[in-house]
Amino acid sequence: MTEIDTFRQETREWLDANCPDSMRQPVSGFEDIYNGGRKPEIDIPEQPLWCERMAERGWTVPHWPKEYGGGGLSAEEVKVLKEEMARIGARRPLDSFGISMLGPALLKFGSEEQKREHLPPICRGEIRWCQGYSEPGAGSDLASLQTRADDQGDHYLINGQKVWTSYADKADWIFCLVRTDNSGSKHEGISFMLFDMDQPGVTVKPIRLISGSSPFCETFFDDARAEKRNLVGEAGQGWTIAKYLLTHEREMISGFGTSGGKSLGKTALETLGADAEGRLRNGILRQDIAQHQLDTLVFGATMERVGDEVKAGQGLGPASSIFKYYGTELNKRRNELNLAVGGEAALGWSGEQYHEGETVRSFLRSKGNSIEGGTSEVQLNIVAKRVLGLPDA
Ligand SMILES: Cc1cc2nc3c(=O)[nH]c(=O)nc-3n(C[C@H](O)[C@H](O)[C@H](O)COP(=O)(O)OP(=O)(O)OC[C@H]3O[C@@H](n4cnc5c(N)ncnc54)[C@H](O)[C@@H]3O)c2cc1C
Repeated sequence: MTEIDTFRQETREWLDANCPDSMRQPVSGFEDIYNGGRKPEIDIPEQPLWCERMAERGWTVPHWPKEYGGGGLSAEEVKVLKEEMARIGARRPLDSFGISMLGPALLKFGSEEQKREHLPPICRGEIRWCQGYSEPGAGSDLASLQTRADDQGDHYLINGQKVWTSYADKADWIFCLVRTDNSGSKHEGISFMLFDMDQPGVTVKPIRLISGSSPFCETFFDDARAEKRNLVGEAGQGWTIAKYLLTHEREMISGFGTSGGKSLGKTALETLGADAEGRLRNGILRQDIAQHQLDTLVFGATMERVGDEVKAGQGLGPASSIFKYYGTELNKRRNELNLAVGGEAALGWSGEQYHEGETVRSFLRSKGNSIEGGTSEVQLNIVAKRVLGLPDA
C-alpha cells in the first residue's frame, strides 16, 4: 500500500466514524452554509460539532500550515480528503470569508504575529469576517475609495462609509480598505486594516434585496478604532493586498458555477416526465440541460487542472477572472433552467409546497453573482489586459 492509499484508508475510516448523518445532506442554498462566528446561525444541531471535529484535525482548512490551525496536507492529500468527503456526501464543515479571502492574504502579506493571532480562530470558526471594500462612489472603480484612517500614534481612527458589506450584521471583524494618505495617485495611500466590528463607532444597516433577504449592509464608521498592529503590510500597500485577495474571492465565486445541488436532469425527469425511451419529454429543455451539464463538467475539469498547475495556496492570479466570468454565467444559466423545469410552481414565493420560494429566490440571487467580486464587464477588461496582453481601448 502506498502512503496515499494509507491516507485514504484512514481518512475514510475517520469520516465514517465522525461525520454525523445530518451532515451528509447537500446544502440547499447560501443560508444553509455554516459560517461560524461569535453569534453563529445553527440550522442543524450537529453543525458546530462537525466543525469542531474537523477543526481538531486542521481539516476545516486542510491546505493551510499546521502551525496556523490548518491540516498541513499536500495537494494530493487534500484531493483525497475532498473525494472521501464527496463519497459520503459530507458537507464542508465551515465556509467563511476568513477561509476564502482573508486567510490567503494574511499568509502572503501578514506578519508572523498577525498569522498566529487571526488564522487559528478562522480555522476553528470562532471569528467571522466581512469585507469592507465597496463604497457608494467606489465599486468597479475601487481605488476611488474615501474612507479615512487617521494615524493616532498607537492606533488609527476610521471614518467613512462602506456599502454592500455582505453579512456585516453577522460578522465579528472586518478586513477593510482605508485611505491613509491622499497626496499621491488614487492607487497609492490605500491601506489594508483589520478591526473588531463590536465597538462604538461602527453602525450596520441591512439592505433588503429583490430576493427578499438582507445579507448586505451599509456600514458606517465614526471614529472606529484599529490598533496599529492590525495594519497588514505597510501603510500604502493596501492596493497590492486588495488585488491579491480579489483573485481568491473570484476563485471562490467561480466555484458556485460547479456546486450543483440537486441534479437538474433528475429533477426535470421527476417534474416533466419521460418519453417512451425514458428520456426527458421536452426535447428543447433536454438539449439545454445536456449542454449545461456538459459545460459544467468541462468547467469543473478545467478548474481542477489549472488548480493543480498553480502552486498550492498561491491562487490563480489574473486567470481567476476567466473562471469568475464563466462560473457566474454558468450559475445564472443553471438557475434559469431550474425555473424552466419548475414552470409556474417554481415562481412560488412562500409556503411549504414551494420550499419557501427556494427556486425563485436562488434565481434572483444568482443575478448578483456576476456583480459581486467585480462585474463581468470588469472581468473581461482584466482578461483582455492582463491575461491576453491586449492594449487599452
Ligand atoms: C451579491 C453581492 C455581494 C457583495 N458583497 C460585497 C462585500 O461583501 N463587500 C464589498 O466591499 N462589496 C461587496 N459587493 C459590491 C461589489 O463588489 C460591487 O457591487 C461591484 O464591484 C460593482 O460596483 P458597483 O455596484 O458600484 O457598480 P459600478 O461600478 O457603478 O458599475 C455599474 C455598471 O458599469 C459597468 N462598468 C463600470 N466600470 C466599467 C469599466 N471600466 N468597463 C466596463 N464596464 C464598466 C459595470 O460592469 C456595471 O455593469 C457585493 C455586491 C453584490 C452584488
